Amino acid sequence: MAARRIPLVCGNFKLNGSRSMLEGIAKTLNGASLSSNVQVGVAPSAVHLDLMRQKLRSEVMVGAQDCWTKGSGAFTGETSADMLVDLGLEFSIVGHSERREKGETSAEIGEKAAYATSKGLMVIGCIGEKLEHRESGKTMSVITEQMQGYLAALKEEEMWSDMVLAYEPVWAIGTGKTASPEQAQEVHGELRDWLKTNISEKVAAETRILYGGSVTEKNCDELIKKEDIDGFLVGGASLKPEFVQICQAPG
Ligand code: PGA
Repeated sequence: MAARRIPLVCGNFKLNGSRSMLEGIAKTLNGASLSSNVQVGVAPSAVHLDLMRQKLRSEVMVGAQDCWTKGSGAFTGETSADMLVDLGLEFSIVGHSERREKGETSAEIGEKAAYATSKGLMVIGCIGEKLEHRESGKTMSVITEQMQGYLAALKEEEMWSDMVLAYEPVWAIGTGKTASPEQAQEVHGELRDWLKTNISEKVAAETRILYGGSVTEKNCDELIKKEDIDGFLVGGASLKPEFVQICQAPG
């Protein structure tokens, strides 16, 4: 990865964990030697956000797995960026493929990203193709369609300073089938070119692009060597003690 972008490794706990399990994870991360040159974060379920912020040392960021397009109102079941800020949290993921699968559109995801950045949160915006898209050569057309949502909503160049992208090929999520470092680099490189063409050279150079999809302590060292891979969004392995090794990979 390029030296000017600070690496970021973020765990996405999805719908997993109990209070005692998460306290165990916090204890492991609090006791781990983590480089000050790498940002580390975890995204537990909404009910565990406050617990994790209280238990984790302040260097480890805590964020949500999703957040709504508005601050408050009649939106049953949602969580707002304002509430996350109020809890002292640092970021939110948006646009995960498991949420897109339930019908979230790129436009709505873009609005979530714009609202959350306007409240000062860092946003990890996910994108990624399904196996059928890859096999039919549509990877970049699917990804650029997803990027249109962010492009339309993040209207000012400055709004991109809090934006991180996570390339997560759907076929690699939770399957044990990681994209090869070359496959991941190819998409990350094209995505950076897209940012340059559609936003600016500055945004292209400064935006971190994480890779996600079956990242483990075994494949992270090879992936992070690639020029345009700036860290990881980690699902399953973030619940295991090996997550520490993944956090140490960019160091
Ligand atoms: P995985 O999930 O690491 O379990 O493949 C990644 C993600 O969905 O963010």
